[in-house]
Amino acid sequence: MIEEPSVTCPYCGETITVVVDATAGDQRYVEDCFVCCQPIVLSVVTDGAGQLETIETEPENA
Ligand SMILES: [Zn+2]
Repeated sequence: MIEEPSVTCPYCGETITVVVDATAGDQRYVEDCFVCCQPIVLSVVTDGAGQLETIETEPENA
């Protein structure tokens, strides 16, 4: 299903909401922060049945 988890931007610390399609399985992609426009790497882990388990953020150039 489509999830809309809140994550914390690793650059500016703002909480932003991202849209994740958990049915697509584990994913790793870049989403620009809505506040500071820096690229955030999102690591999505699903349970394999379309449910979001965890989402982690890190700066692109860590
Ligand atoms: Zn930010």
